Amino acid sequence: SMIDLSSFQNPGNQAKKIKKKSETPKPVIDLKDIPAPHKIKATLDEYVIGQEYAKKVMSVGVYNHYKRVATDTMDDIEIEKSNMLMIGPTGCGKTYLVKMLARLLQVPLAIADATSLTEAGYIGDDIESVVSKLLAAADNDVEKAEHGIIFIDEIDKIAKKKNTNQRDVSGEAVQQGLLKLLEGSEVEVPVGATSKNAMVPMVTVNTRNILFICGGAFEGLDSVIKKRTESSSLGFGGKVKSKEDDNNVMKRVVPHDLVKFGIVPELVGRLPVITVLDELDEDALCRILTEPKNSLIKQYTKLFKLDNIDFEITEDAKREIAKRTIEEKTGARGLRSILESVMNEVMFEIPSDDTISKCIITKEAVDGTGKPVIEYRTEQVNKAQ
Ligand code: ADP
Repeated sequence: SMIDLSSFQNPGNQAKKIKKKSETPKPVIDLKDIPAPHKIKATLDEYVIGQEYAKKVMSVGVYNHYKRVATDTMDDIEIEKSNMLMIGPTGCGKTYLVKMLARLLQVPLAIADATSLTEAGYIGDDIESVVSKLLAAADNDVEKAEHGIIFIDEIDKIAKKKNTNQRDVSGEAVQQGLLKLLEGSEVEVPVGATSKNAMVPMVTVNTRNILFICGGAFEGLDSVIKKRTESSSLGFGGKVKSKEDDNNVMKRVVPHDLVKFGIVPELVGRLPVITVLDELDEDALCRILTEPKNSLIKQYTKLFKLDNIDFEITEDAKREIAKRTIEEKTGARGLRSILESVMNEVMFEIPSDDTISKCIITKEAVDGTGKPVIEYRTEQVNKAQ
């Protein structure tokens, strides 16, 4: 059967689920329970629009990872861990995909920002703090944490700095520290706190079976790739292709390009699964507004329904929101703020007037030249009179 993700962003359901789980205690990871890649993908499809390639690669990646964890065979053929690297512009769904994966697999997830990490002893969070975060997400259950997922965002921002004589405490040093975690090591972390302190009890967490997923926009990587492909095609009569859109260039990434970009080779080697996500275009953004199971429009429709009001948004209006989101370069993240600013006034006025029966968001309401169309319950008012 399919995994029900409807509890996402719906704490009511979640509470129920937790209760059910405690009734039937079971092993943390059971081989029979790992959904097959096509099932994982089908569930992701309900929430994540587009990104077909990434969804497929990640479904297979996590499936293999948890199969490896569940079997934990000690024979000669050790299945290597498939940590992943997601490359894609901001707001294209990297974090969202990982969150969905963790939720459908029911494993704890910690999300950390690589830029906030520094080498131990310097100002900032030390690298092991990501493991404490995971432990906290697992309700301090070490065994659960050891099967969790750690997502490290903005990994591209800790690329090795070129031509510097200073000690690079937040760049290469952090990469080296992460490398140790990714390889699998025993980490001493405080229980129930994020900083080491004499008063806090410590536990040892083994990171061997933790799935690490790194993400970043990798701005500038396209020129590294272009340089490589252009120089290698010189022998065949110079520059063959030149006009190619950036996203397609990114898709030709090979591990060596990442090394050129400033990620240490060992770390690149520990991230064998690389996926490139697409930049979301107008069509994708329009779909994101309405299609996902918990889409913004569905959320608003539900909100209005509670006040017994129909909610509608025109096709033009959706396009306009998508266009403005693209201008802001915030990816799908911008959809919410734009829609919210459009909705704010209506949401303020509508509950005060119970003769309102319908609200229609038009293009004019989005671009500011008009207001949302409001329809009233005329018949009912007439009847009452
Ligand atoms: P980033 O790639 O920067 O990590 P996020 O995953 O945080 O971006 O995306 C921000 C928000 O935008 C998500 O919470 C989600 O609601 C929405 N979103 C982004 N991409 C998609 C997508 N492909 N399908 C559906 N929603 C998306």
